[in-house]
Amino acid sequence: MNKRILWVLLCSVLLVSCSKQTTLTENRILLGTVCRITVTDENAQTALENGFRAIVDVENAISRTKLESQISQINQQAGISPVSVTPEIFHLIKTSLYLAQISNGAFNPAIGPLVDLWGIGTEYARLPESEEIEEICKLCNWRDVELDEATYSVFLPKVGMALDLGGIGKGYAAEQVLESFPASHALINLGGDILVSGGKPNGSAWSLGLQDPFAAQGVHFMIIEGKDIAVVTSGPYERYFEQNGIRYHHILDTATGYPSETGISSVSIIARDPMLADALATAVYVMGKEQGMRLINELDGVEAVLVTQEGTVIVSAGFHTNNFFSWKMTASYPII
Ligand code: AMP
Ligand code: MG
Repeated sequence: MNKRILWVLLCSVLLVSCSKQTTLTENRILLGTVCRITVTDENAQTALENGFRAIVDVENAISRTKLESQISQINQQAGISPVSVTPEIFHLIKTSLYLAQISNGAFNPAIGPLVDLWGIGTEYARLPESEEIEEICKLCNWRDVELDEATYSVFLPKVGMALDLGGIGKGYAAEQVLESFPASHALINLGGDILVSGGKPNGSAWSLGLQDPFAAQGVHFMIIEGKDIAVVTSGPYERYFEQNGIRYHHILDTATGYPSETGISSVSIIARDPMLADALATAVYVMGKEQGMRLINELDGVEAVLVTQEGTVIVSAGFHTNNFFSWKMTASYPII
């Protein structure tokens, strides 16, 4: 072995032995949910700080309760004037509208007025009158949203219109967390929307459990194993209120104005892109099993698993042959 190679080898050994990777986990309440970041890195503390700062930035940009957020500004100027936003938020809104288009409006980022009317998850949650619902739905047309690429401005042409990015925001935030630090092993769990970067510190794939919609929190019906994947679940059990024995949940269908009823208990999407996964989980929930699966089967690199109200598990066409994750059932539901 010549001296040069020996020297390079020696330096590499020194570098490896000097690198002290630590694993840190922290939970914070942001985006109205528990956000957990676990990171293994030489600068794990810095990575955590950067990651949480990224979530705070997303919250400050898209929150509907913060009046100064970019989304609130757009909503306050509905029917008045266009609002210029950052290129990032412009891109997020544009992506949301694209998802509305491919899901035929099942995912609807212009759903704000309907979300406010029902107030699900707030202390003013109530069952609205059908006339109110009919009127409010007229303000939820995502095709009315006007984007101007040249000025990054967004205009809601009717007074009372409002964007609500609650169905895509956690996925977007997860993506922003990963962009904020270069850690090769990280797990980001934003209220159940999960994104993993790389594999586990020992090199193996991450195991991510899918919540059993009929069991207590933390009980899984399926385990997904993979690296660099996002796993996002939408279900009616997340937020709801009950009146006269009927449960009204937070995933609304702007075609009817009511909580979506398609016989589904949960939808999980597995994809590389967490933002896409988040929006598609909401979309497929609203679309139902036939239409929803048709959409998923048209998209590359996106798989879905849904549980029907009868307890049957339905998987997308590429689920068995996909090459980016493996899976195993941990409950005895029939699978189609
Ligand atoms: P998720 O938990 O990702 O399914 O998103 C649910 C949240 O998205 C709700 O709390 C609303 O803020 C919003 N939302 C409800 N229904 C829809 C819909 N059909 N399209 C887009 N966003 C929705
Ligand atoms: Mg969603």
